Amino acid sequence: MSEDQQKESAAARPMKAPPYKLASRFLHPEPSVLPLGQSAIGGPEFIVMAGPCSVEADPQMLGTAWDVKMAGAHLLRGGAFKPRSSPYSFQGLAEEGLKMLAKARELTGLAIVTEVMDSTDVDLVEKYADVLQVGARNAQNFSLLKRLGQSRKPILLKRGLMNTIDEFLGSAEYLLAGGNANVILCERGIRTFDDSTRNTLDLSAVLTIKERSHLPVIVDPSHASGKAHYVAPLSKAALAVGADGLMIEVHCNPASALCDGEESLNPAEFQTLMRELAELAPHFGRSISTMPPTNNHQEN
Ligand code: PEP
Ligand code: MN
Repeated sequence: MSEDQQKESAAARPMKAPPYKLASRFLHPEPSVLPLGQSAIGGPEFIVMAGPCSVEADPQMLGTAWDVKMAGAHLLRGGAFKPRSSPYSFQGLAEEGLKMLAKARELTGLAIVTEVMDSTDVDLVEKYADVLQVGARNAQNFSLLKRLGQSRKPILLKRGLMNTIDEFLGSAEYLLAGGNANVILCERGIRTFDDSTRNTLDLSAVLTIKERSHLPVIVDPSHASGKAHYVAPLSKAALAVGADGLMIEVHCNPASALCDGEESLNPAEFQTLMRELAELAPHFGRSISTMPPTNNHQEN
């Protein structure tokens, strides 16, 4: 076959759908814009989810919730079920923590994102959360993913510590195939040979995912770096590379945090970062408002 004939036959061959056909751009070429809390993700607005690693107590949760809201965060994060490497570390407050999150939502109007670790907890977490998070360690827990495919709540799916992008999109496919179209992906760093940072933030994953998938993708610079002073520069890099938003750990008093204090911003640092992001966003075709969203109660 001549070179021209080869090119012709390649062009005539139909493009093959990847195994994750619902998550791919094959059937869905346009980016998905998903409703999220009082905003939407995947469109021009750059969405920031912020809050402590773990829900610890009412004053900690409420204090941090107000701090992140006043700085302009769109969603409040906080773990009530914590996947810890050691069984002796703080495991989270379970339902008591979910109640504290719900109270923070009631008072601030911020939608809540929180992790669900096990299929048997989905009914419980769904009762309280606006967005269900699948943590990195559960990114390939296929029975959990199947169960969450049946949920009507949006899912924030974190990339597994050792997952390729195709594997990550395969996990997203489980959710979509189960009937849940509201899936947000999160690049949170992967395990590499270098242990200078907690994980290695794979910023080019944002570009690859955007090329292969229509799903929104956010970056978590806190778990990626494990260092509070890396969070602001990595957040700006995430905005620049085309991420749809961020998940950032913020604690009202990082020194006293029961989990991940060393990577958590304090409220003043978070406020400064939000101002800087708001200034930068238009340079990258994004908008970010540091005006706190209106509280449901104030609206009534
Ligand atoms: C978290 O966001 O609370 C968390 C545990 O992150 P990851 O699953 O990315 O380690
Ligand atoms: Mn954490």
